[in-house]
Amino acid sequence: MGIQLPTSPLSWDHSFFQLGAPFFTELKPTPLPSPYWVGVNQALAKDLGWWQSEGADGPQNDPFNDVALQVLTGNAQLPGMQPLASVYSGHQFGVWAGQLGDGRAILLGATASNPNLGPQEVQLKGSGPTPYSRRADGRAVLRSSIREYLASEAMHALGVPTSRALCITGSDAPVWRETLETAAVVTRVAPSFLRFGHFEHFAARGDVASLHRLLRFAWSNYFPECASASGHETGQETEATTKTALATQQATGLLQAVTQRTARLMAHWQAIGFCHGVMNTDNMSLLGLTLDYGPFQFLDAFVPDHICNHTDSQGRYAYDQQPRVAHWNLYRLARALMPLIQDPESAQAALDVFEPEFMATYRRLMRAKLGWQQPQVEGTQEGLEIDQTLLQGLLDLLATEGTDYPLFWRRLSWAVVEHQTAHPPVDSPRLTELRDLFLDRPRFDAWWAQYQRLWSMAPPDGRAMLRTNPKFVLRNHLAEEAIQRAKNKDFSGVTELLHVLQTPFDEHPESESLADFPPEWAASIEISCSS
Ligand code: AMP
Ligand code: MG
Repeated sequence: MGIQLPTSPLSWDHSFFQLGAPFFTELKPTPLPSPYWVGVNQALAKDLGWWQSEGADGPQNDPFNDVALQVLTGNAQLPGMQPLASVYSGHQFGVWAGQLGDGRAILLGATASNPNLGPQEVQLKGSGPTPYSRRADGRAVLRSSIREYLASEAMHALGVPTSRALCITGSDAPVWRETLETAAVVTRVAPSFLRFGHFEHFAARGDVASLHRLLRFAWSNYFPECASASGHETGQETEATTKTALATQQATGLLQAVTQRTARLMAHWQAIGFCHGVMNTDNMSLLGLTLDYGPFQFLDAFVPDHICNHTDSQGRYAYDQQPRVAHWNLYRLARALMPLIQDPESAQAALDVFEPEFMATYRRLMRAKLGWQQPQVEGTQEGLEIDQTLLQGLLDLLATEGTDYPLFWRRLSWAVVEHQTAHPPVDSPRLTELRDLFLDRPRFDAWWAQYQRLWSMAPPDGRAMLRTNPKFVLRNHLAEEAIQRAKNKDFSGVTELLHVLQTPFDEHPESESLADFPPEWAASIEISCSS
């Protein structure tokens, strides 16, 4: 059993490669000695059409499995792959950082094995130095690779747009960070790894021809909503529109679409309590995906100004700053697109969709967490009360108490289910469990009473809440425990976590301890950019 990579060159699609020279450098990954599997994501391998269930002699001697291990560590290439590292620039912590690029990631190409999925780019992260590594080693350590692998799949299961992770391979090759660690490679998958920084790169150089190319490429491959909105299917010139006017129209449409997708992504992050940690423009996906998992964190306690990145001393990327920073980043993208958009008012109008799109999505997601999945409350007096009083009151209460965010939502879901059963228990153990989360019980009771009053308009759907508010969340300490075991070559923690995070709404009674409060030592975990 294992990953079986396509051996026909025709299984690959190289649209990014076709962009040509200024966009990348062709190069092969640098091999790592004696690789081994750390984690294999069977679900994604199946989606890609890359899973083979029966090996010739079982997993140990399976030739395909071994080929996949070598290729996905970067030790070999298969026919049809065209490895490359792309160049981009960006703003880091609010300051222009100049040229960056895939410093430790190499794109193998896009697989077209599953036509239902559309081409999916396959990238090795940690596969050795590239011309964009600056003075770094091009490697990733086991610790951060496990975090990226698990987080990508957790986010996917929660319905948040994200790059995905197919597998991790490890090697005992030493890698120096603050201490001596070992190397790992994550195979990442996404329709495209384009970043805001790709546009910023060519804008900074005044290379308008490349900006045009990149615009056409992105517009026609990844933004079907733009094509249908403007009536142009392929981006080709028509008699009525000049080339410049068309580029203006496409660039404005692209900016608006990216703004919309980014606003929705921020709404998802805020609703689930995800902190990214390094929202530099080179880490912002043009497609509105969560990208480049580094010092991220899923909130334990609800602390609005929580800073998850130990390196971020100013709190620029604190949890409650994320939507504002995303909007700031979109202004950098707009500036990069100005040679094409030309008209500042059009750019501003495209950027202005951020706020309404963010608020609408955020409210929809938060109402769903509260049990109102249907839009029936939209526009009603009760809908307004939910958004403005009930939700705000709740967030104030959670922030005052620093209530555990995932446990609050899961226990709330169960309390609603309990209340709605035909014969609810008199002592309401689920409600008691929920109430136990709070020190100021009268304040919680007042909130609960207001919540219940609103049930007369439309009762919340408790069962749906259990499918919206996950039981299993990738808390820092869970990743940390799996990492410690993996450092001793016990990868079962990674496998178990992947399993519960891919089905986070199921009960998994055998993994109960993974759904508990964080231990006290979790507060002392320091995650920095070093990875
Ligand atoms: P990040 O903020 O972690 O996404 O990284 C910013 C830039 O530094 C990107 O261009 C990365 O490719 C590059 N980079 C980070 N770590 C390394 C490394 N160990 N080796 C080479 N390049 C790196
Ligand atoms: Mg990055």
